[in-house]
Amino acid sequence: MAMDSLSDVSVLLMYPVNAYLEQELDRRFSLLRLWEHSPPDSLFRAHGSTIRAVVGYHGHKVDAALLDALPSLEIVSSFSVGINHVDLAECRERGIRVTNTPDVLTDDVADLAVGLAIAALRKIPQADRYVRAGLWKAKGDYTLTTRFSGKRVAILGLGRIGLAVAKRAEAFDCSISYHSRSQKPFPNYRFFTNVVDLAANCDVLIVACSLNAETHHIVSREVIHALGPEGVLINIGRGAHVDEPELVSALLEKRLGAAGLDVFEHEPFPPEQLLGLDNVVLVPHVGSDTEETCKAMADLVLQNLEAHALNKPLLTPVI
Ligand code: NAP
Repeated sequence: MAMDSLSDVSVLLMYPVNAYLEQELDRRFSLLRLWEHSPPDSLFRAHGSTIRAVVGYHGHKVDAALLDALPSLEIVSSFSVGINHVDLAECRERGIRVTNTPDVLTDDVADLAVGLAIAALRKIPQADRYVRAGLWKAKGDYTLTTRFSGKRVAILGLGRIGLAVAKRAEAFDCSISYHSRSQKPFPNYRFFTNVVDLAANCDVLIVACSLNAETHHIVSREVIHALGPEGVLINIGRGAHVDEPELVSALLEKRLGAAGLDVFEHEPFPPEQLLGLDNVVLVPHVGSDTEETCKAMADLVLQNLEAHALNKPLLTPVI
């Protein structure tokens, strides 16, 4: 994309993900906002042939149809570490570079995973609702809950986030087990070659793997059954890791103890039936949503775009 000035580069932002990112894209590049064009075809007809870069976001597919509409596209810079919304095979085939935002969000997502585990076991949101509803005064002390410290914590996907979760859980005297594609050099962490055995040997299962064809619905009916009525499922990966109808019926029938969920299969539409349940804690995909991390993610998106435009090495290439 070698050019005289960055402001010549047409960048398509898929979604108003972050005000600072949008402002900086607007200041440095020639910015087009997808959501301002309805239907998007009008934007593609007018500008499709000039757009050189796309800023992606989870839930907004970069697929063959979009790539067909953008024949001059050179780079997809995603405001996320997960890149399951990007058709990598198509990008590779067309020579389009892809970048993501690893590392800078790891601590926040790991913090939320542990937060959800404690919230689900200690019923923090439920206890908060109890106080707000005046029930403390009316009905007396809140029900006893279950401790997090010392529990057997299992991590599905011991990558950057999974490892950060493990370190945090260790500080709570939890024992750690995990399943990943490959065994890692952590002798204190017990490796399981399959997820059912992992789930059968833990109290809290934390999903932190990337979403791909193999991990789609990896938390199946069998895995949920192995976790059992005392087990807790925490998902800070992607909604589609979990077979959601199976999760809902297991929670309704108390075949699963509790769940703490940041991600859902069809966002922003968590299953209706979960909303009335007292054994789930629900948050709206906020794993990396702190001021600090979103600024760092935005800077990485901008730096990758600038590096590409100036023919310099990408900071965090996926392809
Ligand atoms: P990462 O370092 O690439 O870790 C991904 C992990 O997934 C690796 O441990 C990998 O195993 C494992 N994995 C991949 N395919 C697998 C398979 N078929 N079976 C078992 N394990 C498999 O990525 P990360 O930075 O930790 O991020 C992980 C994911 O978290 C992202 O992809 C994203 O979907 C999600 N995330 C969510 C939020 C949120 O807001 N909730 C924020 C950021 C990220 P190996 O190490 O053996 O290859």
